[in-house]
Amino acid sequence: MVYRGRFAPSPTGPLHAGSLVAALASWLDARAHGGQWLVRIEDVDVPRCVPGMGQFILGQLAAVGLMPDEPPRVQSEHSPVHQQALDALVARGLAYPCDCSRKDIEAALALLGHARQRQGELVYPGTCRNERIALRAEWTQGAGGTQTTPQSNQQPAWRLRTDFFPSNESVALVQYAKLATIKIANECLQWHDRRLGPQHQDVEKSVGDFPLKRADGYFTYQLAVVVDDAAQGITHVVRGEDLADNTARQIFLQRALGLPTPVYLHTPLVLGPNGEKLSKQNGAQALDTSRPLAALNAAAQALGLASLPSTAQQPTPCTTETAPQTMPMTDALNAWVTQWRSLYALA
Ligand SMILES: [Zn+2]
Repeated sequence: MVYRGRFAPSPTGPLHAGSLVAALASWLDARAHGGQWLVRIEDVDVPRCVPGMGQFILGQLAAVGLMPDEPPRVQSEHSPVHQQALDALVARGLAYPCDCSRKDIEAALALLGHARQRQGELVYPGTCRNERIALRAEWTQGAGGTQTTPQSNQQPAWRLRTDFFPSNESVALVQYAKLATIKIANECLQWHDRRLGPQHQDVEKSVGDFPLKRADGYFTYQLAVVVDDAAQGITHVVRGEDLADNTARQIFLQRALGLPTPVYLHTPLVLGPNGEKLSKQNGAQALDTSRPLAALNAAAQALGLASLPSTAQQPTPCTTETAPQTMPMTDALNAWVTQWRSLYALA
C-alpha cells in the first residue's frame, strides 16, 4: 500500500502560523514515508468560504516549498459522491431525516432529565431515530428522497445513527495493522493516535446521532472528510490537535460506509500571545511568506524539530532581493524529514 497523506485547509481565510504547522507535519510525514502528499480544499461549508481563497492558500504553500504531488481536490465539486454515500446509509437504515430545531433538542434533553452539552453543541438524544427509520419506506419514496439543494428551506437535516455497532468489532488496515487497529468494546470506540497514544470515545453518549447533511442542503464536514479521504486513497491523516475530537465520528462513519480507516496523528497546537490557539476565528495573522525559512522554522519548532540556522535567509548587504532561497529551504525541509523520521521512529 502506497502512503498517501493530505493537508486539507478550509478556504475561509489565509493560512496562519498554526495552519502551517499542520501543513508542514503532513508534508514531512509523507516524505518520511516516501509517500505522496495531496492538498484538498475543504470548501464544503460554502457560506463560510472566501472566493479565491483556495488558490491563495495554494500560493502560500508553494511559497514555503510545499507542493502537492497531484492537482488539489476541491471538495465542493464532489457533492454527487457525498450524496451517494448518504443515499447508501439511508438505504441501509443507518441515516434518517430530522427536523428538530435546537429548541426541540433542548426540550427532548430536558424530558430525559439531562441537558448534555459538549463544546457548545447539544448531544442529540436520537429523538427522530426510531420513528423515522420505522417509516423509512414512506419518506424514501417522497419527493426528492434525500436530495436537497443548497439554500432550499424546509428540508430536513440528515443524521447518522450511532447505536448500531456490534460490540468487540476489531478492524485494521492490512499494511498498517499495528497502528491503525480500531476496536469497539463496551460500545466505546478505541483507536491509536501516533502522538496522543490510545484514544477512546463513546460516540452515541458523547456526541449522539450527528448530522451528515444540514437543513440548508450542504453536506457536513464529517461526511465530506470521510468520503473524500477514501476517494483520494488517504492512508495517513496528520492534522492539528483541534481536529482530534472529530476522529471517533469519522472512524464511526468509515465503518458505517465500509471504508478503510487511516492512521491518525494530531500535531500540537500553536498558541497565540493570549494563550488561545491560533485560528482564523480569533484573528490570527496571515502567514508571512516573504521569509519562507523563518516561517518554516517557527512551524518546525512547534513540532519539536530543531530550528535550523537562519543565516541563509537573513538579507545581508552582499545579497540582493533576488538572492536564491530555494536551496536553503530545500535543505531545511530535507533535514526536517530526517528529524521527523527519528522523532516518530520510522525506519
Ligand atoms: Zn429530529
